[in-house]
Amino acid sequence: MNILVTGGAGYIGSHTLVELLAAGHGAVCVDDLSNSSEEAVILAGKIAGKDIPFYKADIRDRSALDKIFTENHIDCVIHFAGFKAVGESMIKPWEYYENNLMGTLTLTDVMRRHGCKRLIFSSTSTVYGDPEILPIREDAPKGNCANAYARTKWFQEEILRDLCGADLRNGDPDPWGIVILRYFNPIGAHPSGLIGEDPRGIPNGLMPYITQVAVGRLEKLTVFGSDYDTPDGTGIRDYIHVCDLASGHVAVLSALKAGSVIDYNLGTGRGYTVLEIVRAFEAANGIEIPYVFGPRRPGDIAAYWSDPSKIDHELGWKAEKGLEDMCRDSWNWQKKNPKGYGR
Ligand code: NAD
Ligand code: UDP
Repeated sequence: MNILVTGGAGYIGSHTLVELLAAGHGAVCVDDLSNSSEEAVILAGKIAGKDIPFYKADIRDRSALDKIFTENHIDCVIHFAGFKAVGESMIKPWEYYENNLMGTLTLTDVMRRHGCKRLIFSSTSTVYGDPEILPIREDAPKGNCANAYARTKWFQEEILRDLCGADLRNGDPDPWGIVILRYFNPIGAHPSGLIGEDPRGIPNGLMPYITQVAVGRLEKLTVFGSDYDTPDGTGIRDYIHVCDLASGHVAVLSALKAGSVIDYNLGTGRGYTVLEIVRAFEAANGIEIPYVFGPRRPGDIAAYWSDPSKIDHELGWKAEKGLEDMCRDSWNWQKKNPKGYGR
């Protein structure tokens, strides 16, 4: 297939470009570089041994998207482009709704006008809100989101279901075929150390914070909360290696079926506490991570991890890499690129 990857210069998008090309697919990338560097696309191409056509454009720019679809035959779109910072979304909700919703609306309109109705959409496990039952299955309650970012994802999911539903009601001979992927916590980097996560400013995420402490850019980690109802009092998440996450996108290409919207969790099914992550990082890399306990971070949930069995049963896909790989590859990327792509 020839696949348009929106947001392909970003953390998950760049790793997915590598996996797509390795699996023999073609890839075209569009990104406005609002949170990334074109170098990630060039390096992804270098890892895969292929050039990746790159368009620097905002997906809300209809004419720019039109040009991409006119110049390339696109069978399917993997849609990563959007804003993703939880805290920022509570300060700038309008910008988050505008970019994320208008991006998806413009993209899907241009797609249908060019006869391309196969879409894989990046959603988030946070659409499950504070789960009543662990592990979290795809049929768990959704939409009770704790922040504006997660709500944009939930609304986008609903828009996509409506688009497909309307095609079926209207008897459209070529209805939308959509896969929604809900990611748990991607960490790690490509084992080459050429591409990885390069957050702007002080990282919000646990692993980039740890690697920046390890490389000396930050002094110590603050563990947010030590009084959760978990074995050591710190929060539990389901961390998944970004290369596994990327390969999940290749696996679901076969699940794109006209007239269906299918959702899958992408996680490992195993939760780790913050302190377990710190210890695993120290053990994998032989580096001590100084930390202090701080108060709980507002909006944080004590524990969530996935039931990843649906994608395994239906498509025979599951995450393969373990926590040691995640910690080693995160550090390998950071130590080779102390300043990220701006080195
Ligand atoms: P990222 O910020 O590294 O990548 C997103 C990319 O989209 C960036 O390169 C950015 O420049 C681009 N972009 C943003 N708005 C755009 C626009 N209007 N037009 C064109 N490009 C635009 O983020 P990521 O971690 O790679 O996440 C990819 C997707 O997965 C996002 O949709 C994110 O919300 C979702 N997601 C990420 C996580 C995570 O923990 N990283 C978890 C769940 C879901
Ligand atoms: N966390 C922490 N210190 C940090 C960043 C994160 O203790 O500097 C904790 C956070 O409270 C959560 C876990 O690490 O329990 C994962 O946080 P992250 O922001 O990486 O992911 P998310 O909260 O989005 O699941």
